[in-house]
Amino acid sequence: MTAKLIDGTAIAEQVRDDVAKDVSARIEKGLSRPGLATVLVGENPASQVYVRMKQKACEKAGIRSFGHVVPADISQADLEKLVAELNANPEVNGILVQLPLPKGLDEERVLSTISIEKDVDGFHPINIGRLAQKGRKPLFVPCTPDGVIYLLGQVGVELEGCNAVVLGRSNIVGMPVALLLVERNATVTICHSRTRDLADVCRSADVLVAAVGRPEMVRGDWVKPGAVVIDVGVNRVDDPSKEKGYKLVGDVAFDEVKEVASHLTPVPGGVGPMTIAMLLRNTVRAAQHADAKL
Ligand code: NDP
Repeated sequence: MTAKLIDGTAIAEQVRDDVAKDVSARIEKGLSRPGLATVLVGENPASQVYVRMKQKACEKAGIRSFGHVVPADISQADLEKLVAELNANPEVNGILVQLPLPKGLDEERVLSTISIEKDVDGFHPINIGRLAQKGRKPLFVPCTPDGVIYLLGQVGVELEGCNAVVLGRSNIVGMPVALLLVERNATVTICHSRTRDLADVCRSADVLVAAVGRPEMVRGDWVKPGAVVIDVGVNRVDDPSKEKGYKLVGDVAFDEVKEVASHLTPVPGGVGPMTIAMLLRNTVRAAQHADAKL
């Protein structure tokens, strides 16, 4: 079998086009232009790149972006004060504090300060808590996990009753992906660094989501024939043939798994582009939420 590739770049493009149309429709109706505030603390180069990408994507979709860059040694109180100001600013519909925060800052307290109605990253403890409770709806769902579920929806996979295995239990990917799959009535197994017989557990999956950050860990013989495999991993590995000296690979051994799975996301070009697309979608939803309160 040769797996069908799930083209995250094209799917994300479609989501972004839809967001841009929603924004135009709002403006035509005389409603406000949605706005996203980004808060970048310190000078982590990867965070700088992510924030720039998010701001550019906002611009393309017609969303206003308000960039705040503060020094790594900002006090906890001053950072929380900035977030509180953004909470109070009606032009700001979504607030994104780029993680990780520099050492010394209490991430959970900062995330808790964001109004849950502006929590477009979906990391506020109340939004995550609601995701973990039956029948309670979070206002926002974290963007990468939301993107994973969106891609599964595009494939048309029947999640109800299927065996889903999630490799990884981080707050930002593994755990919320698992909660979203449970919400869709999948039977979910969550694996982590202490899981025994990992390959065997993976072989039981109809849907396998890999989010471990270990290059090409999932081999072809870990995958049940016909399974749908979503590779969230983004890992740099040395490659002297490339100008940069490295290439990006996922957590899945692509060449092996594509011979076994029915559907597979490539890296890059799979889950990666979905994260920003879902962030834009959440920002427009936040603006709609604000309209409803007027
Ligand atoms: P974390 O390092 O926070 O979590 C990794 C998880 O994998 C942990 O739960 C860990 O277990 C588990 N794990 C690590 N090694 C093994 C192993 N050998 N066997 C089984 N489980 C293992 O990573 P993230 O969740 O933040 O990210 C995962 C991957 O997804 C990374 O490659 C990251 O770059 C990528 N990513 C991609 C995004 C995107 O495309 N937009 C967004 C975010 C992340 P334990 O809990 O026991 O330590």
